[in-house]
Amino acid sequence: MMRGLLTLTALFVAVFGKETFEGHQVLRITAKNEAQLALIKDLEEMIKFEPAVCQNLYLETQELEYSVMIKDLQAMLDQEQEEMDSAARIAEPRNTGSYDYANYHTLSEIYSFQDMLVAENPNLVSKVVIGQSYQGRPLNVLKFSTGGTKRPAIWIDTGIHSREWVTQASGTWFAKKIVTDYGRDPALTAILNKMDIFLEIVTNPDGFYYTHSSNRMWRKTRKPNSGSSCVGVDPNRNWDAGFGGAGASSNPCSETYRGPSANSEPEVKAIVDFVKAHGNIKAFISIHSYSQMLLYPYGYTTTPAKDQAELHELAKKAITDLASLYGTRYRYGSIISTIYQASGGTVDWTYNQGIKYSYTFELRDTGLYGFILPANQIIPTATETWLALMAIMDHTFKNPY
Ligand SMILES: [Zn+2]
Repeated sequence: MMRGLLTLTALFVAVFGKETFEGHQVLRITAKNEAQLALIKDLEEMIKFEPAVCQNLYLETQELEYSVMIKDLQAMLDQEQEEMDSAARIAEPRNTGSYDYANYHTLSEIYSFQDMLVAENPNLVSKVVIGQSYQGRPLNVLKFSTGGTKRPAIWIDTGIHSREWVTQASGTWFAKKIVTDYGRDPALTAILNKMDIFLEIVTNPDGFYYTHSSNRMWRKTRKPNSGSSCVGVDPNRNWDAGFGGAGASSNPCSETYRGPSANSEPEVKAIVDFVKAHGNIKAFISIHSYSQMLLYPYGYTTTPAKDQAELHELAKKAITDLASLYGTRYRYGSIISTIYQASGGTVDWTYNQGIKYSYTFELRDTGLYGFILPANQIIPTATETWLALMAIMDHTFKNPY
């Protein structure tokens, strides 16, 4: 069954400073059969091409069906930068109450936010540094705990793909929401009285830094690849679950390059080590954008997860709760049946580790803005997503295993 839906971004490499995307468009190309899917994969690996050339000489001669999702990528990036620089923005809040949740922030601002949240809530929040990125940045995880040792726990990560900015922004909002709702919201309070929540907001800090400094559309890690001038590995193809199989690339220049071996990326290895050492994680939720989907294992195989029926029902409940706020519609199902085959993915590995409630979100939107989701959608996105997270966390709490 063919469900090849691929978003391609035409890239030029600028020699100096920030990469610009003048004249670039984002196209959605739909494969109608295996042969077309292979063509699209070739195209994805030929990463530098001129959009017009691509349309005329490639897409049309190959009779690939495509639509223009974003007509002028650079105009959208300029708008986003303008909002970040606007005078109304509080650049350096002194506490998490004055933090501007409705805007995008730099890595150092998010790191400061984490430290402020810990300082303000010493009895509820602590910072666990689970490792270092390739470039030496701390991999910070916020731990929300009311006591106990190695309580059953829920893991949430955002931003493993660095350009998915609404995810890190939502993660920041979730952190504040947890400290605000504890003691007020009965469901969350009950959960936190028995379980811990771990939240890694900037899961790929080198990539995130690079999206601010150099290339807003950067997805991968920033580790150089030996024998190639192309940098980085797709950290959602680097896990030890079907690693190296179909649905990941062996080409270091590909956006879905799996890396030289499973766990080769320190950002992935740190989570693997943490999950194994902890040994009592009951739900693992990895948050991406965009597409509006809630997905469960598997991505590397069509073999259904043994808990498929329960995972499917819970996904339905979660997206129904999510939609109750603004009517945002999500698709849901296993990764391979809902998007495409993907090997070496995060939640396939966590599921195989025995973490039953393993889910991946793809937040807003469905491609109108894509990765450049306007900042005025951050809070609505985070707020609706929180309802789905609560559904999964509450179910995990009420169904111990
Ligand atoms: Zn992603």
